[in-house]
Amino acid sequence: MTAFDPALIRPALNANFIGGKAVLGQGRCFDVLRPSDGGLLGELRSADATQLAEAVENAAHAQKASGWGTMEPRGRMRLLRRWADLIEADADYLAPLEAVGSSRTMAEIRAWDLPYTAECIRFFAEFADKHGGEIGATTPDKLGFTLTEPYGVVGAIAPWNLPLVMAAWKLGPALAAGNAVVLKPSELTPFSVVRLAELAIAAGIPAGVFNVVQGGGADIGDALVRHERVGKVSFTGSTRTGQAIMAACAQTGPKPSTLELGGKSPQLVFADADLAKASALVARAITLNAGQVCVAGSRLLVHEKARDEVVDRISAAFNAHTLGTTWDGGTTMGPIISEGQLATIDGMVQRARAAGAEAVIGGGRATAPQAGSYYQPTLLAGVAADSEAVQGEIFGPVLTVQSFADEDEAYALANGTRYGLAAGVHTSDISRALRAVRSLEAGTIWVNRYGRSDDFILPTGGFKQSGVGKDLGRDAYLASCKVKTALIQT
Ligand code: NAD
Repeated sequence: MTAFDPALIRPALNANFIGGKAVLGQGRCFDVLRPSDGGLLGELRSADATQLAEAVENAAHAQKASGWGTMEPRGRMRLLRRWADLIEADADYLAPLEAVGSSRTMAEIRAWDLPYTAECIRFFAEFADKHGGEIGATTPDKLGFTLTEPYGVVGAIAPWNLPLVMAAWKLGPALAAGNAVVLKPSELTPFSVVRLAELAIAAGIPAGVFNVVQGGGADIGDALVRHERVGKVSFTGSTRTGQAIMAACAQTGPKPSTLELGGKSPQLVFADADLAKASALVARAITLNAGQVCVAGSRLLVHEKARDEVVDRISAAFNAHTLGTTWDGGTTMGPIISEGQLATIDGMVQRARAAGAEAVIGGGRATAPQAGSYYQPTLLAGVAADSEAVQGEIFGPVLTVQSFADEDEAYALANGTRYGLAAGVHTSDISRALRAVRSLEAGTIWVNRYGRSDDFILPTGGFKQSGVGKDLGRDAYLASCKVKTALIQT
């Protein structure tokens, strides 16, 4: 078998996709690097302000002129389903393209990201002909009802950690509801979503309904949010950017925004849990995608009686990881997305150590593989509850450990950050599990598991500074629609 050569993966240079065509950007030029080995993946030409405006105007026109928002809903559903089929069938192209440009391993992309992306679009496609509004319980002399209508153009802005999956979370509900979408991917992972746009055209989705614009957040991202024809914004990324986007939506609308933001999610292990199973889940929840997951379980809170056993088991699980390129079949943990992100992670770890934290395992950059941006799975003990390591989102494979004496202390520690995205609870006591679900301030609570299921049924979203609104589930579809009320006097 010939070795996989990342240099053979050449992304399209015309990486903006506007009005159904690939377009060379007239804006700033970026070098996009491969996180696995630091090699040059491609040069990205971002859109300029004029092209961004064209993309939005074009999308607004296409949404109306093509009949995308007014066609028979089942027709829209069929086109979206055909698109999902083409995405799945394109795995031999899409998987290597996504793998060389991101932190996702090829194996994970084939087994999970691609089927999940396609299924997510299918899930939302089904809503197209299943929700049109409601009849109100009025007196017999009137008829009151609601109609759901698309916003027109949804501006979608995505992060780099799961490029295709994050795009699907936004595209599925917005398109199924009859909107056009202008998507700006992260400038670190710009290429794979362009293929989604090409496949949308191949599936028969009208030109201009799904557009991709490339560029930095402060220029192109901000201009997209502020454009007057963008009726709704759907954003996933950091809390700081989410706050800026909400302010821009207020100033230029007000227009609604769905904000999926950062997290610092606790994993609570009680002494009555199956400690072997709980430790394996805790270790996985912070090393999946090298910790670059919004819901990464980054704070271990463990009962003092179980602490030593759980720490030993997690250390063994961390030790068993093989770091490597995303395309090596033996890799169990891939790279950090960029040198900049690696420096951010390491800065937080070294400041914690200088303040007295102990690196039980890991604690620095991995020296092998030599090229690329790799970080050791790291467990930090001796961290204060108000320290940066416990309070701040590190977004890397770094777990802090704190112990507790009783349930009240566990919940106080768990709720003691500004974030509230997710939490994990490991216990064999059903009453305690129910108390934990009630007590924890987070948008999602997982009990004796960690991570969402793959059926899209349940909504996801954060409390506190982890976000506003929901992705996935019926909530995400409804959030892509305006509700119009009619009241008819008979
Ligand atoms: P980021 O906020 O730096 O960037 C996200 C996107 O926003 C990028 O496309 C960027 O170009 C754009 N952007 C930046 N400034 C902007 C501005 N002023 N206006 C408009 N767009 C702007 O986040 P990131 O580093 O790409 O991603 C990591 C973050 O995303 C983490 O905080 C992580 O927790 C979060 N995240 C959250 C979820 C969730 O579901 N809650 C999922 C994945 C990632």
